[in-house]
Amino acid sequence: MPVTLITGGAGFIGSHLCERFLAEGHHVIAMDNLLTGSVANIEHIRDPRFHFIHHDVTEYIYVKGPVHNVLHFASPASPADYLRMPIQTLKVGSLGTHKALGLAREKNARFLLASTSEVYGDPEVHPQPESYWGNVNPVGPRGVYDEAKRFAEAMTIAYHRYHGVDTRIARIFNTYGPRMRMYDGRVVPSFIASVLRNEPITVYGSGKQTRSFCYIDDLVEGIWRLLNSNEVMPVNLGSEFEMSIEDFAHLIKRLAKSDVPIVYHPLPEDDPKTRRPDLTKARTLLGWEPKVSLEEGLSRTIEYFRANYERTQPQG
Ligand code: UDP
Repeated sequence: MPVTLITGGAGFIGSHLCERFLAEGHHVIAMDNLLTGSVANIEHIRDPRFHFIHHDVTEYIYVKGPVHNVLHFASPASPADYLRMPIQTLKVGSLGTHKALGLAREKNARFLLASTSEVYGDPEVHPQPESYWGNVNPVGPRGVYDEAKRFAEAMTIAYHRYHGVDTRIARIFNTYGPRMRMYDGRVVPSFIASVLRNEPITVYGSGKQTRSFCYIDDLVEGIWRLLNSNEVMPVNLGSEFEMSIEDFAHLIKRLAKSDVPIVYHPLPEDDPKTRRPDLTKARTLLGWEPKVSLEEGLSRTIEYFRANYERTQPQG
């Protein structure tokens, strides 16, 4: 039975990957230091093939027995989180990637890095193909995440070239769905929390900046296909359906049947003005594209936040 280790396995994307790999017949080891992940995301998994290890992947990783795949998904991923935890963000992207690659090398395992559209920074090319090198401010507030992930990509390719590790790099664009943290500061949970609390939605800047949102189930399918492909160089995974943040606020209001007002707050520093993946590579190499419509995915996500509203409120 293949053994798959998922760092960040108690996080939003990581916990969905745990379920998918178990369903595919794998033995799954979720590793997490619970900095932004939560046991609540995995405690429903009652399967003898599933194990959780509480560990900070910036420290040496020891795992007994064979490991066939290492998926490195540990990292704070919300701008608010990495502003609050800049050193941890830099460490997990750099030292954590090094340790996870070291484990893959030791075990002769395939390695997949969760990279990000943030490697493109505030892009001057639109949409963004994998061949675009990006426009990142290394000393801006987002630099801690962007540069850590750029370093992680460089380290991954170096392990491939110099140690022959079989590696994959997914550049993940905005992804949403159940198990995001309600107060992680990202736009999807923030807007949904506002309508559930019957409070104004806060749009940053003019709201004319754009994003495209991919539902978690589609992303997981893309990760599965990428891992099972032969492509070593980065592949974008995300949605091409681009919309302004202001329109997104109206969409959330409509789907949640809410009439809360929209208020405008200053735009955070270095907030990218546009973002949309060029999916040519994913389509050609993986035969992959998102299937779940934004309305369907958001409705499921609103339902999740409604059902978990009490549990996800801050303590004290
Ligand atoms: N945003 C917003 N209100 C919020 C949270 C975010 O208007 O409460 C905006 C943010 O400025 C950005 C977009 O929504 O332009 C997406 O932000 P998010 O934090 O989800 O991730 P990003 O794509 O910037 O990494």
